[in-house]
Amino acid sequence: MDFAARTKITICPYESREPPSVTSLHFTAELNVLTPATDSANSSSTDCAIVGASFAGLACATVLARRGLRVRIVERKDDPGEKLHTTGIIVKEVVDHIALFDALPVDLVRSIPGVRLYAPNMRYVDLDAPGYYFLATDTPNVIRWLAGRVQQVGAQLSCGRSFNGATKVRGGYHLGDLGETRYLIGADGPNSQVARSLNLGQNAKFLFGVEYEFAGLSLAVDDRLHCFLDRKLAPGYLGWMVPGVGVTQIGLARRMRHDPDAIKRVMERFLDKIAPVVDVRDREATSIRAGMIPCGGVVRPVATQRALLVGDAAGMVSPVTAGGIHTALKHGLAAGHAVAEFLEGKCEDPAQWFSASYPKFRTKRLLRLLFDTFQSDLFFNVMLASRPMRMAASYVYFHRQGVMKSARREVTSVQPGL
Ligand SMILES: Cc1cc2nc3c(=O)[nH]c(=O)nc-3n(C[C@H](O)[C@H](O)[C@H](O)COP(=O)(O)OP(=O)(O)OC[C@H]3O[C@@H](n4cnc5c(N)ncnc54)[C@H](O)[C@@H]3O)c2cc1C
Repeated sequence: MDFAARTKITICPYESREPPSVTSLHFTAELNVLTPATDSANSSSTDCAIVGASFAGLACATVLARRGLRVRIVERKDDPGEKLHTTGIIVKEVVDHIALFDALPVDLVRSIPGVRLYAPNMRYVDLDAPGYYFLATDTPNVIRWLAGRVQQVGAQLSCGRSFNGATKVRGGYHLGDLGETRYLIGADGPNSQVARSLNLGQNAKFLFGVEYEFAGLSLAVDDRLHCFLDRKLAPGYLGWMVPGVGVTQIGLARRMRHDPDAIKRVMERFLDKIAPVVDVRDREATSIRAGMIPCGGVVRPVATQRALLVGDAAGMVSPVTAGGIHTALKHGLAAGHAVAEFLEGKCEDPAQWFSASYPKFRTKRLLRLLFDTFQSDLFFNVMLASRPMRMAASYVYFHRQGVMKSARREVTSVQPGL
């Protein structure tokens, strides 16, 4: 690799080789971005090429690089943290089960211990599960931090480069001007070019999500994830308000095709509706995030000889909650281990067996079908406080934990200026 020709974007340089700790107050990450002209001959052949520098791709690359394999991540954006398509809420299971996040700087996250769920008529219930929490994140900087870590352990990150296609060659793939690789991983999101190029399955069912970010708001209730059910505004999903890290994130997702004008009008109506909770109608959004969320389950086929999909590219998003970060990280890490074992000659191609570990989402796909078919505002207005409804909501939000005792019984109406 031609280091002299590297473009180096230093967000805040590491001053020591020690990883940042959870108690660190200062976020430090270093992102070395390769410009197209800098690729040299010795970087053109890799053990594994990963397309997409987001949760799935960066998790996978970390494992492979730590095992001493030559890994190259190809990312079409100049900065992996820019133009994100996610609210970035991380569930507690990530903190509990994914050691990669142990050193995540604390100033990139904010703990949210409970949920306030609003019926279409704006009456609400508060839901809690003992010990459970969500983490709102400064997502752009979480991604940059992951990108810095992956380079620290020796992976090559090529930003501003797009994957355009692959040709099967003996022992791997030829990727045009991206060189050759022994293994190819598609972690390139919901509309995967890797899937198209290799004739793998592609996502066909989507929610479309949009979110406005507002700086400098003070919220009366900032320790809850606020979720708003409304079939007219958010058919198939819901609206939300997240007290985030330095910003308030307000958005909704719906079973509709992307239509920027329609979604802008819907957001105006949504902001009108939630004005008694938080009134942002006279404020400019500081940033807008939007994107497609696969909700049809894992695609088929999800792998072929010496290539596999992971994360959103594989359709690995919960069809009910539309959360995909945890699964992208978990299966990204697992894919890294499986591919490393294969490349080290210890097992057969994971394309043959690894995808059996991918989530099936059977119950969640059924719930999605029921929600799509029977979602009714009247039903939620009447049933919100009922025990079955609180149990179902707690199951969805807290993944069974404390389901029986968590959801508080009282229903309350929104008071203006709350
Ligand atoms: C509005 C919205 C809100 C969401 N909120 C949440 C949430 O709060 N919590 C949660 O768990 N999930 C949420 N999700 C889902 C979650 O964001 C995704 O499941 C998650 O980002 C998947 O990560 P990934 O690494 O698989 O892919 P992505 O995050 O989609 O990343 C794919 C990467 O590949 C790159 N890429 C694409 N094509 C190419 C190419 N041809 N060449 C090179 N690079 C390419 C892209 O630039 C991108 O960096 C949300 C989704 C949306 C749309």
